[in-house]
Amino acid sequence: MRIILTFAAVVSLSFCALAQHPGLEDLHDKTILVFTPHPDDDVFGAGGTIALLNRNHNRVYIVVYTNDDKGSYDPDMSSQRLAGIRKAEEEASEGQLGTAKENISWMGYDDGMLEYAPQPKLVEEATAIIRRVRPDVLLSVDPGEWYERWHKTDHRMAAFNTIDAVRAAEFWLYFPNQKLQQGLQPYKVPEIYFFYPSPQEANYFVNIDRVAELKFDAASKQVSQFEPAVNKYRPDWSPTDLTKAKDEMRHEQPRKDGHYVEAFRYATGFVQY
Ligand SMILES: [Zn+2]
Repeated sequence: MRIILTFAAVVSLSFCALAQHPGLEDLHDKTILVFTPHPDDDVFGAGGTIALLNRNHNRVYIVVYTNDDKGSYDPDMSSQRLAGIRKAEEEASEGQLGTAKENISWMGYDDGMLEYAPQPKLVEEATAIIRRVRPDVLLSVDPGEWYERWHKTDHRMAAFNTIDAVRAAEFWLYFPNQKLQQGLQPYKVPEIYFFYPSPQEANYFVNIDRVAELKFDAASKQVSQFEPAVNKYRPDWSPTDLTKAKDEMRHEQPRKDGHYVEAFRYATGFVQY
């Protein structure tokens, strides 16, 4: 389900990491791999950045861990139906940002159950995806570097599983069948930008002014995540409700120096100790 972003503290931090590497928004013709716990965190956490990456002719691939089939208050909703709704909404939402639906992969785990999935299987699957896509840049939920951030279930599992897969992908002896049987070579991910960082560890901010309204349009495609559809499903918005929802998005979107931003923690690898 949707999370409310309140990064008031984030926007007071400095751009301390800016000078050390080319920014996400400056990348062209690169391969970008985004792991997202649910079919909306990619949009809420990094949708503006994804739009900029697509505009710059990068190849953006989205991997969705879960089918998000639980988060409705509608007593007449079923998990199977909700999963179909979420999938269609995610495709529409990412489509608005410029990502083709063929570039969205679904790992298919049930909402809220990622922590109870077989962990060797989970990390093996993510490792294979990394070795296959071989991204120049990877985006994922932040597990934290010095401080483990409390995330809700699925978010924390996706955060830790993805960084564990980044590590495993480097060493071919992890899941050697991937090389021996599938021809997947080991791969070292060069750069990682973690979204949903703790305010204390956010060290990179993408100015999304140019695409902010596009991001809000894309987010509004996730109709079932918002009132009133989260309470009683309807596939569309009333004009009044849509205006209200977008006003809230504008209000909640983090700002820095008067600009809309998305916050990340930049890293070049996993913590070795
Ligand atoms: Zn989520």
